[in-house]
Amino acid sequence: MAVNMDEKVAPIFQEVLNRNPGEIEFHQATREVLESLGPVLVKHPEFTHHKIIERICEPERQIIFRVPWRDDKGEVQINRGFRVEFNSALGPYKGGLRFHPSVYLGIIKFLGFEQIFKNALTGLPIGGGKGGSDFDPKGKSDDEIMSFCQSFMTELYRHLGEHTDVPAGDIGVGGREIGYMFGQYKRITNRWEAGMLTGKGTDWGGSLVRTEATGYGATFFVDEMLKARKDTFGGKVCSVSGSGNVAIYTIEKIHELGGKVVTCSDSNGYIYDEKGIDLVLLQQLKEVERRRIKDYLQYRKHAQYVAKGNIWEIPCQVAMPSATQNEINGADAEMLVKNGCIAVGEGANMPTTPEGVKVFLDAQIAYGPGKAANAGGVATSALEMQQNAQRDSWTFEYTEKRLQDIMKHIHELCYETAIEYGTPGNYVNGANIAGFIRVAKAMVAFGVV
Ligand code: NDP
Repeated sequence: MAVNMDEKVAPIFQEVLNRNPGEIEFHQATREVLESLGPVLVKHPEFTHHKIIERICEPERQIIFRVPWRDDKGEVQINRGFRVEFNSALGPYKGGLRFHPSVYLGIIKFLGFEQIFKNALTGLPIGGGKGGSDFDPKGKSDDEIMSFCQSFMTELYRHLGEHTDVPAGDIGVGGREIGYMFGQYKRITNRWEAGMLTGKGTDWGGSLVRTEATGYGATFFVDEMLKARKDTFGGKVCSVSGSGNVAIYTIEKIHELGGKVVTCSDSNGYIYDEKGIDLVLLQQLKEVERRRIKDYLQYRKHAQYVAKGNIWEIPCQVAMPSATQNEINGADAEMLVKNGCIAVGEGANMPTTPEGVKVFLDAQIAYGPGKAANAGGVATSALEMQQNAQRDSWTFEYTEKRLQDIMKHIHELCYETAIEYGTPGNYVNGANIAGFIRVAKAMVAFGVV
């Protein structure tokens, strides 16, 4: 697919390709941002002078380390750990940890790069970073998970701190893993430092609404996009992929707002329930019993399970991809649009390929890219840090209201920036440009560092 880039920006992208060979997801993420930035350099020649784009594409620090641990059979296992501290212009590095066998440096760099702009859009004082490991938590016992998390933190702890770098969860990292890592950090440092990790349990420094935040926030964002088109979720058939943290709370909020979600999935297949996904059942299967979504059929006989099928074949008016990167390609996007989809909100990070993004933009449907739509998770992590700093804890209602206001603000910012730069309705440009400008201004102020 042809790269559509301004002549000042194209050589910078070429240099990114040369300096980071083989990191295809990182190339995709940088390309997507850089394609929006040509007009910004015209309005802000100082960004060219200070080489802001070149600097922003180079992480401030990249840490790769060995993670040895012992499994239940007593055998030593070795994984690889990563933390990419991408940009600290606006605050301490902030971004989740992903445990999944597909993890390598290119995935962590794409996520860290996206995180810089996403965090900037929240308006909160957080820089961008991301980390993780090629460890596969699936099928592991609690003891094995603990053993891995302790070993992982035994190296990572030296790079963290409430004013330095503050990780959270992502794929394969939820409350249980955060608990084991926080415990190990506390043990090694002899510090009860709540603000060094977010997504903590609510009994020990966590924030209410953090668990729900990414899914709720993405749904609020889509609600704002619909409102901008004088529409609502009411009565809409919606499709959600995934069945993890983001998917579950997206489904919950869509149902609250009057939509009906008819799908969910895991990496083995998808469920289609035309009566609407039974959320209580889904939570019991996934959050309590840690089972596969295929088992949903044992309790809802009328539903269908399609192994290895394509979830985007199911007609819907709103699609919210909430599993992983590149889950919607060009053909899937065309099918969605053809079947009447009018809005897409990305709960996952970069779930749509560049070909798919083009289809959505050309069709002029409401398309909310992940760095705007799923920013509610990290925003609520920043609210967790605020509560930790004040040694306070806020109510669910108050915190959810803050989240909703933040999502409304992000929507407005992207919407208005898209108009200002001559591409009304294009939330990709709106998000990339607004996020970039906030970081770039801080970098100019700091000089060459
Ligand atoms: P979880 O681990 O809780 O759930 C991930 C879900 O996606 C599972 O259903 C999983 O199925 C499925 N999945 C993961 N990898 C694949 C794959 N390669 N192919 C098909 N399905 C897959 O993760 P989260 O819900 O936290 O994260 C989901 C997405 O949202 C990610 O892109 C993440 O980066 C993004 N995100 C998460 C935030 C958060 O606060 N948690 C914040 C912002 C973005 P299976 O169990 O079979 O692997």
